[in-house]
Amino acid sequence: MIWRRLLEPGLKITPDKRGSTSPVEKGRLMKIRTCPVGAFQTNCYLVADEETREGVLIDPGDETERLLKLVRNEGVTVRALLLTHGHVDHVMRAQEVKEALKAPIYAHRADLDLIRTAPQQAEFFGLESGPVPVVDGELKEGEDFRVGNLVFQVLHTPGHTPGGIVLVSGNSAFVGDTIFAGSVGRTDLPGGDGRQLAQSIRTKLYRLPDETILYPGHGPPTTVGEEKSSNPYVRALDA
Ligand SMILES: [Zn+2]
Ligand SMILES: [Zn+2]
Repeated sequence: MIWRRLLEPGLKITPDKRGSTSPVEKGRLMKIRTCPVGAFQTNCYLVADEETREGVLIDPGDETERLLKLVRNEGVTVRALLLTHGHVDHVMRAQEVKEALKAPIYAHRADLDLIRTAPQQAEFFGLESGPVPVVDGELKEGEDFRVGNLVFQVLHTPGHTPGGIVLVSGNSAFVGDTIFAGSVGRTDLPGGDGRQLAQSIRTKLYRLPDETILYPGHGPPTTVGEEKSSNPYVRALDA
């Protein structure tokens, strides 16, 4: 079992079994900080529980020092690094950040091979490569990811990459490159599939409530309702 082999002792967090309601249902406040990093201005998100100040970093793709400074300034204890998918601009600094913060890395198993090729991807895009991220645990649809008081529902949304995921917490969804405001992730890179991406968006993302705020891997946030009514690319993917 590859995941077991990759698991590093002492870094795995124990899932919080207390209660099953989401932070928003319980009236908790969740803090979200966006930090666009690197050549592709990839959005790294710091998500933390306001009360406990425990949180996660989603897609620490570049500019390690800036991300660490953000974490310090916000006074957040980062308990996990979550990767929405295996593209280099989302994963390239995960290992450095992991070592600095002593926080384990989680991703979907279908993108594990892609994550291992981060240096080759970096070379392809003319980027300077960081160390290959060592993934510690799996994000899996049907298994909520819990850290402190935060709960993330995991949706597997292949199409941009085979192991792309969306992380839903209350009325917020971190969607990686599955969808953008008025656009969708490219499907011409290895492992991409346009029809599959359209299906992922229709059958998973668009089933979330219209008011759900979507935080994409690039560009500004949007909502499910907004994209449902105006995103031209989702329809075009099926053509
Ligand atoms: Zn991508
Ligand atoms: Zn990206």
